Amino acid sequence: MSIENSPVQYLKGVGEKISKKLSKQLGVKTVADLLYHFPRDWEDRTYPTKISELKTNQTQTVRGKIEITSTGFYGKRLLFFKAVITDGTGSINAVWIRHYMRKYDVLKSLKDTIKVGSEIIITGSVKSDLWEKTINVSEHDLISNTEEDMTHTNRIVPLYPLTSEFTNRFFRGLVKQALSKHVGFFSESLPKKYLEKYGLCGIKQAIRDIHFPGSFADKEKARNRLAFDEFLSFQLKMEFIKQKMMKEVKEFKNSLTKELLTSFRINLPFKFTPAQKRVISEIFDDMLSPRPMNRLLQGDVGSGKTVVAVSAMLLAKESGYQSVLLAPTEILAEQHFLTVKRLLKDLPVKVSYVVGKMAKSKKLAVKKAISSGSADIIIGTHVLLEEEMKFKNLSLVVIDEQHRFGVDQRMKMRKKSGFKTVDLLLMTATPIPRTLGLTLYGDMSISTIDELPPGRISIKTLEMTEENAYNFVKERIRYNEQVFIVYPLVGDSEKLPARPVRSGGPLKSAIKEAENLGKTVFKDFSVGLIHGRMKLEEKEKIMSAFADKKYDILISTTVIEVGIDIPNATVMLIEHAERYGLATLHQLRGRVGRSDKQSYCILLSDTKMERARERIRVLLSTTDGFKIAEEDLRFRGPGEFFGTEQSGIPEFRIGNIFTDMAILRKTKDCAREMLMDNPALAISMLSKVSDDFLKNNLTTV
Ligand code: ADP
Ligand code: MG
Repeated sequence: MSIENSPVQYLKGVGEKISKKLSKQLGVKTVADLLYHFPRDWEDRTYPTKISELKTNQTQTVRGKIEITSTGFYGKRLLFFKAVITDGTGSINAVWIRHYMRKYDVLKSLKDTIKVGSEIIITGSVKSDLWEKTINVSEHDLISNTEEDMTHTNRIVPLYPLTSEFTNRFFRGLVKQALSKHVGFFSESLPKKYLEKYGLCGIKQAIRDIHFPGSFADKEKARNRLAFDEFLSFQLKMEFIKQKMMKEVKEFKNSLTKELLTSFRINLPFKFTPAQKRVISEIFDDMLSPRPMNRLLQGDVGSGKTVVAVSAMLLAKESGYQSVLLAPTEILAEQHFLTVKRLLKDLPVKVSYVVGKMAKSKKLAVKKAISSGSADIIIGTHVLLEEEMKFKNLSLVVIDEQHRFGVDQRMKMRKKSGFKTVDLLLMTATPIPRTLGLTLYGDMSISTIDELPPGRISIKTLEMTEENAYNFVKERIRYNEQVFIVYPLVGDSEKLPARPVRSGGPLKSAIKEAENLGKTVFKDFSVGLIHGRMKLEEKEKIMSAFADKKYDILISTTVIEVGIDIPNATVMLIEHAERYGLATLHQLRGRVGRSDKQSYCILLSDTKMERARERIRVLLSTTDGFKIAEEDLRFRGPGEFFGTEQSGIPEFRIGNIFTDMAILRKTKDCAREMLMDNPALAISMLSKVSDDFLKNNLTTV
């Protein structure tokens, strides 16, 4: 039986009940799943320490002979099993603690196996008092006559990512059993040629050594091979898609009439920056070519990506086609909708908007407009990817904040368009470190807006006490400028996801503070309120009132994180700054500094949490989105940075796209080579990747 089909249930010690738990809690159903459940860490228990040399309060391993054993109670609930161990240099009490149970003897297995006279290896933490040393046993192994086969001690021992229902000891035993029975059935997927060229060990050795390595060097070798496999599948998929797309020809044809574009440009209250002009012409070249566009547009917050996207969408419209602007969140979609509508208000272009929370009847109306072709530009969230959305003639898809939409989503959009291919433009404000970008988005062309609109003065970021901050706000308002104050909560009833709460009392909410501050500190000023629970129309009304300077202060939640554009607002005051991630803080800060006036971002926080302080320090030290993105990566790790579940970047089990960059690069070469030399092998490897997109497309090579 192949290991993919061999259920763990048939391993010794696993019955129906345990196998259900393994499957539910750890996703381990088959022997293959078990062996691919890699350790999260390895502990070196190779060399036992002499009893005379044990240090207090450290986890160590000792080896010795069992001299005396005894049992007893610790208080009412705990039982102990004790053994005196000697090794010629001294003696130590080894203690196993168990919870007392009425129904059965929790010490039975210890009493049955740990016998006076035999040898034992123990890992645990050592305590000592005046008279004696004690080791609290966390793991032990009995030394059999042959002395081979230590599983839990006397070796480099794997530690697994587990739920509380499973112990490492149990899981390790299972892995060991599975290895001895099944590792022989692993078939090598890579021909020798590649193993040699890329210096990889065989798959059997890799699987064995990742769990029970003889040395740390062996473990690294194993990890190398397994990471290679993982990255290779990913790179094969990227290469495959890329090659497939290179052969594609558009079934539609754009033509630049400038009917709309010229009046759009003339109506804008500003001139395009040289960087904007450059990226627009790169995008237009792609759109006018017979090959589908596949382009990534990067530019920091405030660099002016929106008008670039709108230009591209207008070119599509001029050519008689629909376009889509896809946003990762409803708020962002909403903001885009309002902005785009405003930018195009004098042009004969129909802009539509659809998000998940919309009423059914409204959604239906939009769907109709989309399928009949009466909607030209459609802005929305991933609902646009849903089955029943049909487009009349979609030719351009723009995706904002692309790292939250992966390859699969891009492909899905492509399929819905009515054409076989569409032009694709991805936009991001979080620049990806270059080397990484090339590796992960090697299939795309990249355009960069590397300058901010002229006259922008770098925002000053400050940390203040609340009182000083309020005084500062009053002063700015006297200069006729406007202020945002952001709170983490809408109302008091709200629950926040667990995060370290700051030391100084409960979190403030926007609703309550708007009322409170409006009556006290800011009673001489007009204070507006906006938050995510309001209807779109209501938010729209308040935003335009703020834009018309009807309020001095706008109190808000992070609904204003994106898209909001009020050049006269010069202060962004963030309460509980410790509650937000770096990306959010940077986005919030980007809401000011949109004119030629000096702007300020003021952070209020009295947190002592080191990580939160560190984030605040980063923000105080730089306004460079690129640096912040890299810091963000460092704090949160790749999973969160790219957004986990929606990310196109698979969650690698063992490879790390940052630290294993060298392997990632090698696999790219290998994938190209394989698709060229041995497409049959490449396809057979790809077919093992469980992926809907590939399943539907492999046949069409
Ligand atoms: P991004 O999406 O890249 O963060 P936006 O598209 O929201 O940035 O643009 C930020 C602000 O700059 C908006 O107010 C926009 O109208 C303005 N803007 C864009 N391009 C220019 C320009 N060339 N000159 C002056 N202001 C500009
Ligand atoms: Mg934007």
